[in-house]
Amino acid sequence: MSKLAVLGGTPAVPRTQRGVEWPVIQDEDRKAVLDALDGGRLVSDTDGETPVTTLERQWAERFGHAHCVAVTNGTAALQLALASLGVGPGAEVIVPALSFIATGLAPLHNMAVPVFADIDPVTFNLDPKDVERRITPRTAAIIPVHLHGAPADMDGITDVARRHGLAVVEDAAQAPGATHRGRPVGSIGDMGAFSLQVTKNIPTCGEGGLLVTGDAGLAETARRGRQFGEVIESGKDRDYVSHQLGWNHKMNGLQAAFASAQLGRFDHYEQARQTNITRFLARLDGLPGLTVPKPLPGTTHVWHILRFRFDPAAAGLPGITDTAFRKALRRALRAEGVPMSQYQLMPLPDQTAFRDRLGFGRGYPWAALEPSAEHVPEHVPADSRAEYPVAHAVIRDSLTIQKRHLSPTSGELLERYAEAFEKVWENLDTVAKLAGARS
Ligand SMILES: *Cc1c(COP(=O)(O)O)cnc(C)c1O
Repeated sequence: MSKLAVLGGTPAVPRTQRGVEWPVIQDEDRKAVLDALDGGRLVSDTDGETPVTTLERQWAERFGHAHCVAVTNGTAALQLALASLGVGPGAEVIVPALSFIATGLAPLHNMAVPVFADIDPVTFNLDPKDVERRITPRTAAIIPVHLHGAPADMDGITDVARRHGLAVVEDAAQAPGATHRGRPVGSIGDMGAFSLQVTKNIPTCGEGGLLVTGDAGLAETARRGRQFGEVIESGKDRDYVSHQLGWNHKMNGLQAAFASAQLGRFDHYEQARQTNITRFLARLDGLPGLTVPKPLPGTTHVWHILRFRFDPAAAGLPGITDTAFRKALRRALRAEGVPMSQYQLMPLPDQTAFRDRLGFGRGYPWAALEPSAEHVPEHVPADSRAEYPVAHAVIRDSLTIQKRHLSPTSGELLERYAEAFEKVWENLDTVAKLAGARS
């Protein structure tokens, strides 16, 4: 049994092997950006093919979406999707209690109120039963997130949405390429949002987002909303007439060109990622007290982030709390060279903007839900632990390995990570001491 690195032993992952390249930038990416720069199509007020329209077409074709509208980033895509569906002041939007902050901010950006629902303990995605419990006459939409690259239970969510007449906007920022019963995520609901931010599975060289939908009318509304409410018609000069509320959410042509080049290599990368990660997880699956991520049956997981849950009792350490176990494992695994981290330190409803209702003006948009109230509604903090027990438990007893370490070129590195886990599990008595000393 080798000595743990946290006690001065040799780390399982040699320091010289820890570097990971992401995004992978090759000559064709550089050429794509330079060609776009020299191509004279840097603005979207011109008709015909531009790097942005090329990316929209390629994205729609590759994943099987009827319509694709490129925007500045994933958060803008979520906001514009809700706006295109008419979700605004007075409306509530149900979002998962575990996600990136943008999922909860997007309703606020439209003056609608995010309402949080608890998650499923296995997929970490919206629990349709808890969604149903939170529906009120003001609920207008649901935003299921395909968190970490795992499709949410779209059967359950679609069923709830249909029965209550709610719109569904999929937050697929972490899940391009994931499928649910053979259908691409993003187009199962009314609209879907993707992010091309540089850490995501298909990166651009900065920021970018895409909105997809199967509905031509919604796509047209989003297209106008992206550009000041204007209609940009092929073959005609821009007339600067605005037909609806609009924003400036136009994607930059250089970002689009880079993303197109990356999209061209995506299938190759995705195959490598599936092979590497399936092998890695299979190797860890038998360790007692460790739950590895698993996709729902009938879905493809695209492994944006790997979340591992830890159960001290199942690991044979019944006297240790889950928090103490997580902290000790984090210390031990990081010392071995595995970059374990927490993805989200708290459930979304505990983030300041939502907890303290920091919106616009005198308590809006929450105040808009009670237009007759003379005063801004007093905020009574909900008991978040009782309201979202699963989200709290998952944050307490899990750690993640994030995208940048799951690059398609990380096959060898993941083998070393597996050795580190095995080594730590051989030394659980030491982990117990670490946990005891720190709890
Ligand atoms: C990254 C991300 C977003 C936002 O995308 P940006 O392009 O960074 O604005 C939204 N939701 C989730 C789940 C994300 O991971």
